[in-house]
Amino acid sequence: MLDVSNFKVAEGVDLDLSTHDPNSKLGFDGNKKAGQAALPAYRKRLAELQTKLWAKKKQSLLVVIQAIDTGGKDGTIRHVFTGVNPQGVRVSGFGRPSEEELSHDYLWRIHQETPADGYIKIFNRSHYEDVLVVRVQGLAPESVWSRRYRHIREFERMLTDEGTTVVKLFLNISKDEQRDRLQARLDEPNKNWKFNSGDLKDRALWDDYQEAFRVALQETSTDYAPWYVVPANRKWYRNLVVSNILIQTLERMDPQFPAPEEGLEDIVIE
Ligand code: ADP
Repeated sequence: MLDVSNFKVAEGVDLDLSTHDPNSKLGFDGNKKAGQAALPAYRKRLAELQTKLWAKKKQSLLVVIQAIDTGGKDGTIRHVFTGVNPQGVRVSGFGRPSEEELSHDYLWRIHQETPADGYIKIFNRSHYEDVLVVRVQGLAPESVWSRRYRHIREFERMLTDEGTTVVKLFLNISKDEQRDRLQARLDEPNKNWKFNSGDLKDRALWDDYQEAFRVALQETSTDYAPWYVVPANRKWYRNLVVSNILIQTLERMDPQFPAPEEGLEDIVIE
């Protein structure tokens, strides 16, 4: 197992993202090929834990994934959850809010998507957009977004108290890596569909987004719902780190198969 505690944002810390190297492969003594070869064993372990979570249906896991554009949210979900029973896993993506969503508080659409007992729910973007894009693009005044960190801490506290474990992943890529990934979307025909010229406007706001992420992580990383800064320039290492975080989180949840009915040993199937 990898020691993922290095990537956890401690509650109350003054976060300095420049101390988190997006290129890191800390704790893994091997190349890309070895890293890719290590993943299937982690997938298997994740599937075992999820089977118990699903069988018992007493707890749930919410995995929040946030990243700058091209940060690798979709690829992470695809690679890490391959092999997990699709019946017990759901993904919710949060794009620009609809008119109806905007006419409610910003957590309204989020709360409808939180996981039921037994499920793993992955948020591809989340309520954190309401302190990221909203802050950077000035979609709401500071007086509105600045109090949301507290709302979010309290919302996640409530979810935790009610049986949902919350874990949050910031996929951390460098600005150079983003350039290469955007360029690949232009150069490779089968990636053209992913290119969105709006992403260039956000790239121009790189520093503002980094600051918004820094503050969001610092203000909302708690013992009960921690953030992890995942080194994400190397996709294979990112997948290993995310798998390890999820496995270790589920191991702490310690799901168990429900007790079998009594007297099973006396039953003979005719
Ligand atoms: P992705 O980029 O994750 O593949 P989309 O292309 O659908 O998905 O982009 C979703 C867009 O919705 C992003 O630009 C994101 O910033 C925006 N968005 C998400 N939540 C909000 C929000 N609460 N307010 C404004 N914009 C939002």
